[in-house]
Amino acid sequence: MPELYADIIVDISHEKLDKPFQYRVPEKLRDVLETGMCVTVPFGNGNKLLKGYVIDIGNQCKFDPARTKDILEIVKNGVGVEDRMIALAGWIRRNYGSTMIQALKTVLPAKQSVKKLEHRTLQRAMGKEEIISLLGESKRKRQVAKERLLKELIEQESIPYEWVTGKLGVSAQTVKSLEKAGALRVVSTESLRNPVRFGGDKKTSAGVTYSLSNEQQHIVDEVIGDFDEGHPDTYLIHGITGSGKTEVYMQIIGEMVSRGRQAIVLIPEIALTYQTLLRFYRRFGDRVSVMNSTLSPGEKYDQCQRAKNGEIDVIIGPRSALFTPFPNLGVIVMDEEHESSYKSESSPKYHARETAMEVARLSGASLVLGSATPSLEAYHRAETGEYKLFVLKERLTGGRLPAVYTVDLRQELKEGNRSIFSRKLQELLADRLQKQEQSILFLNRRGYAGFISCRSCGKVLKCPHCDVSLSEHKNGMLMCHYCGYSEPRPKMCPKCGSKYISGFKAGTQQIEEKLKEMFPGVRTLRMDGDTTKTKDSYEKILSAFSNREADVLIGTQMIVKGHDFPGVTLVGVLAADLSLSANDYRAGERTFQLLTQAVGRAGRGTLPGEAVIQTYQPEHYAVCYAAEQNYEGFYNEEILYRELGGYPPAAHMLAVQIFAEEENRGKSLAELLAETARLPESREPVRTGNEKNAAGKEDDIRIIGPAPATIGRINDIFRFVFYVKCAKYGRLVEVKDLLEQRIQGLQLKTETVQFDFDPMNTM
Ligand code: ADP
Ligand code: ZN
Ligand code: ZN
Repeated sequence: MPELYADIIVDISHEKLDKPFQYRVPEKLRDVLETGMCVTVPFGNGNKLLKGYVIDIGNQCKFDPARTKDILEIVKNGVGVEDRMIALAGWIRRNYGSTMIQALKTVLPAKQSVKKLEHRTLQRAMGKEEIISLLGESKRKRQVAKERLLKELIEQESIPYEWVTGKLGVSAQTVKSLEKAGALRVVSTESLRNPVRFGGDKKTSAGVTYSLSNEQQHIVDEVIGDFDEGHPDTYLIHGITGSGKTEVYMQIIGEMVSRGRQAIVLIPEIALTYQTLLRFYRRFGDRVSVMNSTLSPGEKYDQCQRAKNGEIDVIIGPRSALFTPFPNLGVIVMDEEHESSYKSESSPKYHARETAMEVARLSGASLVLGSATPSLEAYHRAETGEYKLFVLKERLTGGRLPAVYTVDLRQELKEGNRSIFSRKLQELLADRLQKQEQSILFLNRRGYAGFISCRSCGKVLKCPHCDVSLSEHKNGMLMCHYCGYSEPRPKMCPKCGSKYISGFKAGTQQIEEKLKEMFPGVRTLRMDGDTTKTKDSYEKILSAFSNREADVLIGTQMIVKGHDFPGVTLVGVLAADLSLSANDYRAGERTFQLLTQAVGRAGRGTLPGEAVIQTYQPEHYAVCYAAEQNYEGFYNEEILYRELGGYPPAAHMLAVQIFAEEENRGKSLAELLAETARLPESREPVRTGNEKNAAGKEDDIRIIGPAPATIGRINDIFRFVFYVKCAKYGRLVEVKDLLEQRIQGLQLKTETVQFDFDPMNTM
């Protein structure tokens, strides 16, 4: 049997991550050693025993085998927070496919060589009497600067250093000479940066605590009860916006804090507003901190240090906040659990929901998920009993669900209305402008990928093999990005023969222009990728609209998240189909979520609201259920579609992406890897006896593609993709391992390969 060698990191301070040391795996550890494990190794000339972490295991010895030392033993796990983070990195590497270094860099805070914040003060070092006599002396000598400083020192025992050069106008020289004379000491203290600052808005004794409704209290009792009994679990709270979820999170966190435990609150970046933070701050004061992309690397690093030191109890932030090294984590809250920003877009492409389950498991913590429109994944798990489900039905602040009108755009065209505003929407907009109430116009562009539909009958051109829409290419071809099928772009609708067949081209800017033509003098605000490029433009637009500086807010999906606008009584969805026809199996789910959220924006205040959904497919179930605000109805229909198509969560899917400088090399690598995945070994694992029949179907894998990616070339790098589908996630991990081995053997120079499990988008 060939020897096994392990790469080991003995110091995880970040700079040294790239310098693993190699050790031999002794006989007794051959079968048990795994990447991510913590081991004891002899190190350096003196063979000092050090703790190290295994980041890779292989057959090749990179040094002199005679001089390679043996690993001593495995350290029993679950010791410190560091060990947990390394184990987590190992788990991420295994389940999502990346190098161990990449995984470690994901979970460990980037060590910063930035200087600590230094705070200097001058402190009185003599008795007052002595200073008074010094003062007399400098008066005689007419040393006015010294005099001022000494007077100040008589008044108070310590002076901020900034005063010396600022308010007092004293030179550093003078300070030094007084220090020499023994009158004062310069003391410097280092402090960790705290990004949370709320000037005068201090924590009010215990913050506002409502007495919870029975439904809310029930959730808190269950979560805390399970925790106290020693079996923390995963919970899903399904409740519309305003139903009191955040209040429940805060109550649970309060209970955890009183048990000496800490909490991580995950929020999609875009929803992390000043208001959210303030609400937690009012309840938990200085023990709350925040993590987001606007923090400097130094600030981020310091938040991890503060967490480790026990200076904070609660951290709020987007998915990366999951890796805050709390010594005693009690609960992870994941708000708006369905948001696609919870999936990392760079390798390792981890999903925060699954990763949070692992973090919770490693730390013995509870996991609480919340959403008004849960992801199919989470709801499916709640249905199968893996998660405990709670439903909050009522809006606690009052306000009713709006009346919804669905308008058939085909009918509008038939009756001669070629405008992008239906007659119903025009009528309601005019009404709102006249009453001086606010409206939102929502352009649902998400996942929009150049699909083609008939404006007369609504038919969307789809792939005959994949049931996803075909995308238009410049060369006049229509193409499926799942399987590579293509056909020439037709001149007429294959269903009704109409020549009005095209993509939907209107953007937010055109909508704004059309609106101004139709209603001269209307005050508008626009929110999309273009108007929110700078740091706080998002907040600025939202607060301008809140302050009623505009009548109509026009925007993409950004406007349907976060923020409440009590003045809005009308929401118009311009073309619900845009996201429906994305060439993506999640198109229905996204459309339902966006429409539900958009419609729910109307009538939050005291005035009742109305919503208009314009669509070419009024009969589509995602549109119908969103208009009814009926989540269960939607779920039941969508899950059937996923089961039929073998899509997540009914089955699992691994996207293998190939990037290459040369098109042909990329193409043949994609074909080679797809072939490897198809190999008999990867299809038929060794099984014994009668389990074969039982496990047979679950283990079947299907390969789709390879095909060029949706965007076939970016920055002159060609992109290909193929998909591997299987009911069992574990089988896909095995396929990934097999492919990784194969890739290693190929010694690729200019091509790279990335894995994406249960991808959020087509590629
Ligand atoms: P969600 O997170 O589901 O949107 P919130 O927790 O923000 O809901 O609650 C919505 C509003 O209702 C907030 O203004 C909150 O202060 C208030 N609220 C929450 N729980 C209660 C309660 N038990 N009694 C009275 N008001 C409540
Ligand atoms: Zn047609
Ligand atoms: Zn296809």
